[in-house]
Amino acid sequence: MARYIGPVCKLCRREGTKLFLKGERCYTEKCGVTRRPYPPGQHGQGRIKLSEYAVRLREKQKVRRVYGVQERQFQGYYAHAARRKGRTGAEMLGLLEGRLDNVVYRLGFASSRTEARQLVKHNHVLLNGKKSNVPSMLLRAGDTVEIRAKSREIGRIQGALAQIDKRPALNWLELDRKNFKGTFKGGIVREDLNEPAIREQLVVEYYSR
Ligand code: SF4
Repeated sequence: MARYIGPVCKLCRREGTKLFLKGERCYTEKCGVTRRPYPPGQHGQGRIKLSEYAVRLREKQKVRRVYGVQERQFQGYYAHAARRKGRTGAEMLGLLEGRLDNVVYRLGFASSRTEARQLVKHNHVLLNGKKSNVPSMLLRAGDTVEIRAKSREIGRIQGALAQIDKRPALNWLELDRKNFKGTFKGGIVREDLNEPAIREQLVVEYYSR
């Protein structure tokens, strides 16, 4: 599956908020949004009034960029969520949260989802004790995710774990820090996903227009 490899701070500046795409840097003064709090490009500092369509489009792009998912795949998550019984927006966020790369990031083994994706692709992660190098794999309640024994000495992983306390704890994840292992318990609570703030209803309105 393709992935975005262009400049990422521009994405945050376009959405006007921190999307936490660069790990440690996002928490420092060097953050692009802190240094240049206006959209990128020649007209970034001009006054722009967004149409209703543009507001929904921006929200959709924001969610897609937070989770590092391309448009076609994102549409797939929306369609999947729309077929479920609950609220489509919350279901869609639930699906995105259940991705293997996201869980690796949320457990603190990586400082960003991009880094988590790379750990998965490079076979540093075991899912239920077996090798799994598919970042988009959707986890089920009870699945365990761990860093392969050989990979536990990697400085990046240790560095990310040391910073885990900076992030909010999530009830649906259980981390066994000593053993580099975590459990995805399921039962994602929409209200706990608030960094960055997401208005998923606008995404639903975008796709159902
Ligand atoms: Fe760049 Fe992170 Fe700041 Fe976004 S939040 S602008 S990715 S440093």
